[in-house]
Amino acid sequence: MKAIVKYAEGRGFVELRDVPEPAPGPGEVRIAVEYAGICASDLHILNADIAITIRPPVVMGHEFSGTIDSLGSGVSGWAVGDGVVAEASYGVCGLCRSCMGGFYNLCADRKVLGYWHHGAFARFTVVPAHRLHRLPPGVSFQEGALVEPIACAVHGVRECIAVAPADAVLITGPGMIGLAALQIARAAGARVIVAGTPADEARLALARSLGAERVVDVGREDLGTAVKEFTHGGGVDVAVECAGNDRAVRSCLDALRKQGQHLQLGLLGRDMDLRFDSLAYKELRVTGAISSRDTSWRTALDLIGRRQVTPRALISDVFPLDDWEAAFRRHEEKKGLKMLFRPG
Ligand SMILES: [Zn+2]
Ligand SMILES: [Zn+2]
Repeated sequence: MKAIVKYAEGRGFVELRDVPEPAPGPGEVRIAVEYAGICASDLHILNADIAITIRPPVVMGHEFSGTIDSLGSGVSGWAVGDGVVAEASYGVCGLCRSCMGGFYNLCADRKVLGYWHHGAFARFTVVPAHRLHRLPPGVSFQEGALVEPIACAVHGVRECIAVAPADAVLITGPGMIGLAALQIARAAGARVIVAGTPADEARLALARSLGAERVVDVGREDLGTAVKEFTHGGGVDVAVECAGNDRAVRSCLDALRKQGQHLQLGLLGRDMDLRFDSLAYKELRVTGAISSRDTSWRTALDLIGRRQVTPRALISDVFPLDDWEAAFRRHEEKKGLKMLFRPG
């Protein structure tokens, strides 16, 4: 079968290859991939600037939906033909403090689909049955491919901080994660202000249509002033940083009210300068979140099933695997939003 393969460590080394079709081992299922999403981290795998361990040659792709095609031995509760999505945390140690507490997203030995284990940029992929989730009725395969990034946003916004009804929430970075965080915060009853750059014009318009009460293009408007207006001078209760850059981090800390909560979802990929004293003077609570856990997936699927989060609005393009280079380039140029492969 055709697959997009990262075939060596280092910058580049990605190509469309013919690889053997996988077979499910004990406790595993084979899934016929319907749609697979391109994630910013796939670009980081291509450019070799990400901290998650890879094992080349490996089939890339960790965000997908599909139909169960065959069952390995010992799998119960699932049948051929079931519509499913699967968590990317293929393997964890199961013994460390994080794993024992159910936070296997933090396991130091986590081996991720599309990084360590062969992923979903192919006709078939194999995953452990205990990482499967059923696609709810009425949710399409295209939308299913977005459950993984939405679950990551759920883990941050619903599991790592507390958003209360009527809270004022600032979201910086209206990309896939930011626009998911917007909808999740809205579902919790928050009022949301979203900030982006001039390159985000279309994404800010989308944020508006997805329920942002206020959007700010920081190239045209001062974010601090906009936040003051939005909160009648008080500052936001919660800041969710999804842009992954210094300026956005500082803007969030400045925008927060005293004792506000900062959630870091964006990754900078390098060090930054920061006046750390603001945490003391404002008694800020600062936390971050990475990846997702089973509870995040259940909440994400529930929110999508009840149409409180609408993945469809975030899908911009569908490509065949053959066009992977054009798709990656389009993602790198910040064109479109969530791009999907249709491997079949
Ligand atoms: Zn991803
Ligand atoms: Zn562990």
